[in-house]
Amino acid sequence: MDGAVLALDAVTRVHGQGATEVHALREVSLAAMPGELVAVMGPSGSGKSTLLTLAGGLDTPTAGAVLVEGENLATMGIKERARLRRAFIGYVFQDFNLIPALTAAENVALPGELDGRRPRAARTAALSALEEVGIADLADRFPDQMSGGQQQRVAIARAVVGERRLILADEPTGALDTQTGEDILRLLRSRCDQGAAGVMVTHEARHAAWADRVVFLRDGVVVDQTGPEPVERLLAADGQR
Ligand code: ADP
Ligand code: MG
Repeated sequence: MDGAVLALDAVTRVHGQGATEVHALREVSLAAMPGELVAVMGPSGSGKSTLLTLAGGLDTPTAGAVLVEGENLATMGIKERARLRRAFIGYVFQDFNLIPALTAAENVALPGELDGRRPRAARTAALSALEEVGIADLADRFPDQMSGGQQQRVAIARAVVGERRLILADEPTGALDTQTGEDILRLLRSRCDQGAAGVMVTHEARHAAWADRVVFLRDGVVVDQTGPEPVERLLAADGQR
């Protein structure tokens, strides 16, 4: 896994204790190389979101290690980890997580500003990311003045703004219509083609078809991994339904 942007090494995450213990992930190993987009599929409760929050340093494994650019998140200080997240990792949350008191542009500019960029530069970068997701004209709207799909695009802009090396997306197309969903997949794909690594949770085979690899989870275990060719077969099967 040398050179991997993200590596999970036998990661286990247990929630609760005793009778209420839940193994959300069991010894999952996974790597994402520069240029690679990995799709994660699996039924509800199989551990997809847990995998992503661990990869993003938002949660810590019970056992095993999460390495970003070869560095173990567990041995980093809190500040260092926060800095890595702001500068390096873009995260699209399932429920968007926009800050209600900030406009679209301010939400997208925030990671840059927290990372010490000048407000003007952070805003310029934010506007260009909003343009990439097709909503530059909504830059000064607040989240509650936007539709769910528009908020989702703001969340995606925030995750790809600047030069993120690792983009993690939890069902990034959930609230989007088919065409917009495709546009967003194309954007993620192009960020990866430019050298980022991406991990995306999705329910739709037609979206997973944009990935280089699909990892299937069931009950916290990786049950299957496919390469590009099987991805295309998956797409064909999806079209037959
Ligand atoms: P998915 O995203 O695939 O639907 P999750 O990663 O959200 O699955 O959850 C995996 C399992 O871990 C589920 O059984 C879920 O109920 C459990 N789980 C997730 N987060 C917590 C938590 N904070 N406390 C207790 N159980 C949790
Ligand atoms: Mg989930």
